[in-house]
Formats: sequence, C-alpha cells, structure tokens
Amino acid sequence: MSKYSNIAHYQDFNELLSILSKNGNAYDMEKITSAYRFAERSHGDQRRVSGIPYILHPTSVACIVAELGMDADSICGALLHDVVEDTPVALDEIRRLFGNDVAKLIDGVTKISKIPYSTREEQQAENIRKMLIAMADDIRVIIIKLADRLHNMRTMDCMPEQKRRDKSVENMQVYAPIAHRLGIKTVKEELEDRSLQYLDPIGYKEIEEALLLNEEDRHKFIESIKTQILEKTKDTIPNVYISGRVKSINSIYRKTIMRNQSINDIFDVFAVRVIVDNVSDCYNVLGVVHDIFKPIPNRFKDYISMPKQNMYQSLHTTVLDKKAIPFEVQIRTWEMHYTAEYGIAAHWKYKLGMGPDAKGGDRVNQNIEKVKKMILDQLETEDATDIARNIRNDFGGNDVYVFTPKGDVMSLPRRSTPIDLAYLIHTQVGHRMVGAKVNGRIVPIDHELKNGEICEIITQKEEHPNRAWIDICKTASAKSKIRQWFKREKRDENIVEGKQIVDREFKRQGMTLNDEEMSEFFKTVNMKKQYNTLDDFYAAVGYGGIQLWKIMPRLKEEYQKKYAANIEQITVPQAPVKRKKASSGIVINDTDDVLVKLSNCCNPLPGDEIIGYITRGYGVSIHKRDCTNVPKDLSDCEEPERWISAHWESDAGEAFRSTLQITASNRTGLLADVTIQLSNMHIFIHALNSRELKDSRALITVTIDVAGKDHLRGVISKLSDINGIEEIKRL
Ligand code: MN
Repeated sequence: MSKYSNIAHYQDFNELLSILSKNGNAYDMEKITSAYRFAERSHGDQRRVSGIPYILHPTSVACIVAELGMDADSICGALLHDVVEDTPVALDEIRRLFGNDVAKLIDGVTKISKIPYSTREEQQAENIRKMLIAMADDIRVIIIKLADRLHNMRTMDCMPEQKRRDKSVENMQVYAPIAHRLGIKTVKEELEDRSLQYLDPIGYKEIEEALLLNEEDRHKFIESIKTQILEKTKDTIPNVYISGRVKSINSIYRKTIMRNQSINDIFDVFAVRVIVDNVSDCYNVLGVVHDIFKPIPNRFKDYISMPKQNMYQSLHTTVLDKKAIPFEVQIRTWEMHYTAEYGIAAHWKYKLGMGPDAKGGDRVNQNIEKVKKMILDQLETEDATDIARNIRNDFGGNDVYVFTPKGDVMSLPRRSTPIDLAYLIHTQVGHRMVGAKVNGRIVPIDHELKNGEICEIITQKEEHPNRAWIDICKTASAKSKIRQWFKREKRDENIVEGKQIVDREFKRQGMTLNDEEMSEFFKTVNMKKQYNTLDDFYAAVGYGGIQLWKIMPRLKEEYQKKYAANIEQITVPQAPVKRKKASSGIVINDTDDVLVKLSNCCNPLPGDEIIGYITRGYGVSIHKRDCTNVPKDLSDCEEPERWISAHWESDAGEAFRSTLQITASNRTGLLADVTIQLSNMHIFIHALNSRELKDSRALITVTIDVAGKDHLRGVISKLSDINGIEEIKRL
C-alpha cells in the first residue's frame, strides 16, 4: 500500500464543500459556488487524458488549496485556473464576474504555465526567477500553481513515460525547492515522493517495502516511545500531544540509496513529534526526552531560537531507546506546527482560523515580510543563474551545522565558508571580518565548514569586505550583502574597475570602440534597461552584479551587426584613407551641407562627370553622367527639376568604392596574387569573389576603396601585371 494511496486522485465539489466546512472559517460560499459553476460550464465536456471530466481537475486543485487553508479568492482562482488557458473565456470576463484579485491570480498561474521548461541551467534559472517575481507579487499564485502540479502528479499514471520523467525532474529541480522555500512541507514531500516514484521506481519500491516489512514493529515501537514520554510528562506538562511517523520516502532515499547505505544504518526512519502549548514547555519536554533516552551527540538542533530561513521552528534531537534503536524527536508548539506543515500558507490558515489572535498574526506577517525580503534581496543580485544555483544550495536540504564560540548553532548550506557564517551572524560582522578560527585554529577564508565545527569570526572595526569574497562564499545572502556594500560604498571604484574589465574583454575580442562610440553602442544593446547610464553598467560589472562573460556573446553579436565593416578592417589590410562620409568631396550648387550619397548603380569616382538627383527624403544621390539611370535628355524627362548639377571638389581626400571585374586564365594562386597585390598597395577590400568560367578561365569580382579616378587607374594597371590577367573592367 503506497503512502499516498489514501488520497483520492479526483475530488468533486462536495468534497471541496466538506473540506471548507471542516476548516471552520467563514468563506464567501456564494462566490466559490459560482466560480465552480462557471468553471464547470466553461470546461463543458472537455476531458482529461484519462477520460475523466476536466472539471474534476480544477476542483481537486481547489481541494488541495483549501486543505492548505487558503482564502476564498485562492479557492476561486484554483477552480478557474485553466479556464483562460483552455477555454474561450477571456480574463476580462473573470475580472468582471469575480473581481480583480481572482483575475490576477489566474493571470499569474497562466503565465507560469507558459514558461517553457528546459534542463539547460540558464533557462531553468530564468523560469525560477520569473516564478519568484510572480511570487513576490502575490504568493497565492505560487500556492495555486503548486497545488496544480501536485494534482497533475497524482494523476500522472496515464501519461507517457517520457512526460512523467520530464515532469518529475522539473518537480525535483523547481517546484519542490520552491515549496520547501515557502515551508509547505506537505506539498514538498508529496511532490518529491511522487516524482521519485517515476525517476527511480525500483529504489522507491525498495524503501517502500522495507518500511512495510516492519510496519507492525514500527507501530509497536512508536507506541512504546509515546507511552514513556507521556508517563513522565503527565504531572508536570499539560496538553502534550504526540504523534509518530516515518520520514518521507524521498528523504530516506537520499540518505540510503544515494549514500549507498542500508535502511537499517540511518537514524531518521523513525520520528516522533511532540506538540505542546508554549515555548517553555518545548524545552521542558526536551529535558524529559533526554532524561529517558540517550541523546546522540551533535544531533541536537534548536530551530526555535534560530528558525530556518523558511520560518521553520522546532527542537530536534536524535536519541536511542533501550535497544539502541535511534529515532528523532521533534518538539514544537501548535503555531510552529502549522508553520512547519503549511509554511507560508499558514499565514492564511492561521489568520482565518485563529481569529483575533493578533500576536500570532503579527508574527506570521513578519515572517511573510522576511521571506519576501529575502527573495527580493536575491533578485537584486541580478543574475538568474546564480539565483537558481543559490536556491538549490540554500535549500538543498544539505545543511551543515556549526557552533559559534558562544555555543549557538548556526545552520548553513553545505560547502559554506566562514564568510557565509559571518554574514549569517550579522551583516556588520561580515563587513568587518578579517579572518576565522575553526576549533581554535586559524583557517583560510575559503575553508569549507563541516558539521559540528566551532567557528569564530575575527573582526576589526575599520575593515571592509573584499571583492574576491563574492566568488568564495556560497550563500546568496552573503553574496548579495557583499555586492550591496560595494554598490553603496564604492561606486566610483566600481565604475573604474568595471570599465577596466569591459575594456580588457572588448580588446581581447577585437572590439574597438572609443568612449563616445561605447556609450552609443551601450544604448543600442542595453537589453534589460536596468542601467540608466554607461556608468551604471560599469559599476554593476565592477561590483559583480553582471558577469561579463555571460553577456559577452550577445554584445559581440550586436557589435558585429553594428560595426561589421570595422571588424573586417582588423583582418583585411587597411586602406590609407578611410571612407568616412560618402558625401565628402562633392559640391552641389556651391553648398556642402546637403546629404549626398554615391549611387550604387554606377559608383562614380572623382574625375567622372557627375550629376545629382534629389531623392524623396534621402538627400541627393550622385550618378555618373553616362549612367543608364540618368536620362539622356534632361530637358525631356519626368521631373526634370529633380536633376541638379554637381561636381567634385578639387581635392577629394576621401575613399570611394569601386567594383572591378577581372577576367583571367584560371590557375592556382590567382586569387591570392590579386589579394596580395591589392594589400601591397594598401587597398581596402570590401568584397572579393571568384568563379570559374567554362573555358578554364576565371572571373573575379572585387570591390575596393580608391582615392579617385587616377588612383583607380593606377590600381588597374598594377593588377594587369599579374600573370594570366586578361581584362579588367570597372562595373
Ligand atoms: Mn491545471
């Protein structure tokens, strides 16, 4: 029998009603009922892949949301969550019928569904980032989405194998960590277990069966523990509630199969939970438990005085019974219990369920603010890949526990360094840190903290953080605090540093821009619009908010689009004169502030007889007088007034483009000879083509810059000397 087999795969509206009535809160039943009716009508006779009427899916999702204790709007949102996406109903109609809040929730859920998932880290990170942004706006969106996910996992059996695996991976990498971050343990554990079932069915079964094998023994064992604790507390501590449980299959899996251990080797198969009325009773119960059973050293964790980042609070200890069977005891108050089970969702459950308990409500509100602030802090680090990695680091369930010299237990992600610890203790401790001692000995600053180490942070008043720490420390919060410090304190230095980094990298990539061009270029590529000025951008590179190597390919691409000609100049020998403005060197009606361009049809050169044509909006285009596009008789043509006289300035120092067609007898090295000859003359080549003609001859077309008609004549004569060249024509 599977752990979750008692959960109905599909729940109908009656079940939703019964969950709501058990919750004991006042809901706007009229609104919920009409949302259900509306969803039922909209989905019509749509069916799930399994053939079951579609409406049962949103109804089941609403049941999950209701069980988490969410409010009426969330339940309506869950009921209607697929309506906009899968039926012709528009969001505006929802807004009109159910109000702006419900519409916003549905819009959020729909948007999340449209984020394509990819196992490529960067993309996935982007998804997480978007979800976090959505969450920071209204956390109820994420809760509905998690419920949707969970229900889809409950009904995943009829899906193709590949799809089940894909969704499972996605759950493990994205949704379960988010549920964990929000502290919604029930959803997190079920998502993980159901995903594991598809990802490693054999491993899953192994654990499930091992647990079943001794189900009876386990039950007896837990009962005896319960009795012993209750016996000792009944006279001194009121209202002690005890439940026993087996840990989630996924958590046992991580400890056994992934570490190659037997299920008998691990402590955490059994857990007993003790719930009492207040915090002081928690510590009293702990005393009793340590009295009866033998505590295992280093297994005591006080998450009451040091709550986890997802607001979790409890006392944890692992002890041995008389037969030396280890088990974990968790001790907490009811308030802590709600938070542990429902996490951030407890906010709604608690607020609705506990009525005018202002004190508890405030506390939860504070916690919500704390979680939100943490998320927003992380978003400020600006780099989505980092955020994703950091979430997995911070919440991977692989915490290490270290002690401060005062004996406080601090929990940190695995592989954390003293820097992380310093910033966890206090931002100022981090900023002023100069070194660290572990178990009394000085350690390098990148020391990886291990379970049970006593770590002392050495500080000095005048000190400040080091930029290199950003790469050394592991937690997102430490990284972002260091960046914040540099951002605030060292803007000028950041700009200088950032500019150096950018210049160096651009140079390395053969991208040359002066300051003016740089700020121009920056404007065109400023994709995120996060930085108002070039200095902001430099500063962000300087303090590490942007990692240049990640955006470099994009910048290079933009650069090539914009300055493609300049790139060619790096690889092709340069002409002594640069073609700056095509307009230079031409005089029209004795003015020179007219926009002039040389036409491409005849490429006029200085010395050629020329004429100007006033275009519609593109200035004057210059043609050779004998160009086929120029009317022979200007007094007898359409719009004669558009043709104006033009002549070359006497001393035209500019470069002009000219295309030559070279016919030659084909031989190896012909093209090379032409290129070498041109480069010896310092001629800039825009384009060079050759193709074979039938009679073993070749046709080369080359577009070059020349200084004028005389210069071109010289170039042609030089090229004519090349062995095999028969004819050179100017096109
Ligand atoms: Mn859905």
